[in-house]
Amino acid sequence: MQRRCRAAVLHRAKEPLRVQEIELADPLPGEVLVRTASAGICGTDLHFAAGLFPYPVPTVLGHEASGVVEMVGEGVDDFAPGDRVIVCDQTFCGRCAACLSGSMVYCTDSSAKERQRRRLSIGGQPIRQYLGVSAFSELMLVAAHSLVPMPPELSFEAGALLSCCLTTGLASVFNVAKPAPGAQVAIFGCGGVGLGAVQAARIAGCGQIIAIDLERHRLELALELGATEVVDATCGDVVEEVTRCAGGGVEHAVEAVGLIETAVQAFSVLRPEGQATVLGMLPVGTDVPVPARLLRQGRSLVGSVMGSVRTRMDIPRYADLAVRGLLRTDPLVTSSRGLDQVNCALEDARGRKGVRQMVRF
Ligand SMILES: [Zn+2]
Ligand SMILES: [Zn+2]
Repeated sequence: MQRRCRAAVLHRAKEPLRVQEIELADPLPGEVLVRTASAGICGTDLHFAAGLFPYPVPTVLGHEASGVVEMVGEGVDDFAPGDRVIVCDQTFCGRCAACLSGSMVYCTDSSAKERQRRRLSIGGQPIRQYLGVSAFSELMLVAAHSLVPMPPELSFEAGALLSCCLTTGLASVFNVAKPAPGAQVAIFGCGGVGLGAVQAARIAGCGQIIAIDLERHRLELALELGATEVVDATCGDVVEEVTRCAGGGVEHAVEAVGLIETAVQAFSVLRPEGQATVLGMLPVGTDVPVPARLLRQGRSLVGSVMGSVRTRMDIPRYADLAVRGLLRTDPLVTSSRGLDQVNCALEDARGRKGVRQMVRF
């Protein structure tokens, strides 16, 4: 049996999404049908909507979401109808070498991609599910492995933020950079990901947290959430300013923008033996030219998918930080609109208005 619901469909890159009816198949063994409660607009969605990362269309974008379990497939015994859940685009097989060594974001099992081809349709024509989630839809049909239980104290908006942006920023600090207490950190970009990294650096006890962005309102929020200094990237030489602030360079830098320029800057503000972590999705086919004179003395540049998050282990811990008030989520939510206003939300996200535009259901 199929079920129908309303969803925002991308028919062609660079065109507005069209809200229309789609069909979802019944949950197969290992799958869960989730009624969407909240979905955030992530930079990744904007990249796909703009065609920067080619993807088969039509499709339903959105991958940062929370909701309530509606129905479970055979063999799913860890979730039941009525459960509040965080829905992630990272799923895992639990059997490959990457999964077994704790690097589930690099899972080599391709069956997840295969399942995306045949779960959704429009007028009977199968469409490819986006990143295994397709969250701009009243219902999501997902692999049970992509779900994380959500504590009752957490709002659905907070749950959605923990499904992608906040978690990516937090995990980049806790799992990849691993700064020692008192360490100096520079964070490039103060959107949802960067502000997650700023808060993680504060929770980890970093001594100096330098936040960099083009938008004054985001820098003010960074200060409120734990940054000790901010650098306005529209004024002067960013590398010079961060290096000066840090008295010669930082031990850790996090790039949460997705531009070659900021990736190079993140590397260039390091002191010897420092490490820069690039989280942003750099454009396909580009190279990152690293200054040769800085490559000596142990500096390193690493890329990371979602800060190497281990969803089922890390996200409940981050949710607990939010419940305890150590991690703040509310200031990141700029707007929460109905599905019919999804294109306005995308437009505001493109214009870097506030921090996170959300769709509520
Ligand atoms: Zn995302
Ligand atoms: Zn795996």
